[in-house]
Amino acid sequence: MPKEQHSYTGPLRVQYEYDPDCWCHGTGRHDDDTTCGGWVIDSAVPTVDQLADMLRAQAVGDTSRQAAVELLVGHGHWLRVAQFRRIVDCFLGFGSAASNAPDTPMALIDWRAVREALDAQSFPASGSELALLRIAASLASNDVTVNLYSALAGLDRTNSRLVADAVACAAQLGQG
Ligand SMILES: [Zn+2]
Repeated sequence: MPKEQHSYTGPLRVQYEYDPDCWCHGTGRHDDDTTCGGWVIDSAVPTVDQLADMLRAQAVGDTSRQAAVELLVGHGHWLRVAQFRRIVDCFLGFGSAASNAPDTPMALIDWRAVREALDAQSFPASGSELALLRIAASLASNDVTVNLYSALAGLDRTNSRLVADAVACAAQLGQG
């Protein structure tokens, strides 16, 4: 049993898990005092608004990631998609950012998995939904590239505005 305590008492489903990619193969058995464990949240449980706040909490201090998060939140589609949520890591963060309390629920999108899903065309979505996700991924991760000629072609005025705002945010034009 983990010795760590967590102070989160909200409605999210939180449990202690060890990292399956660790050399201990997720057993948590380490010979020293280290641990690969953490408080993990079932990504299917948060509401759309809760997930948005969790993504924002994790993105504090990273304008590129914030731009990608606000693009997806503003668009409204992807945070509702179960298949997308499965590649979002949800957890209790350590509150390292000044504005976050200890044990803040946070969420981090696995952008590499997003790219793989986009490349494999495994997300059932419209062309404009896929284009917007790829643009968000390209803002947040240098693993993902986007062709703006084709990506912007399928966006309506509302979504084009969201993209323009996201690029301005990522370029920190709002802080000058
Ligand atoms: Zn381990």
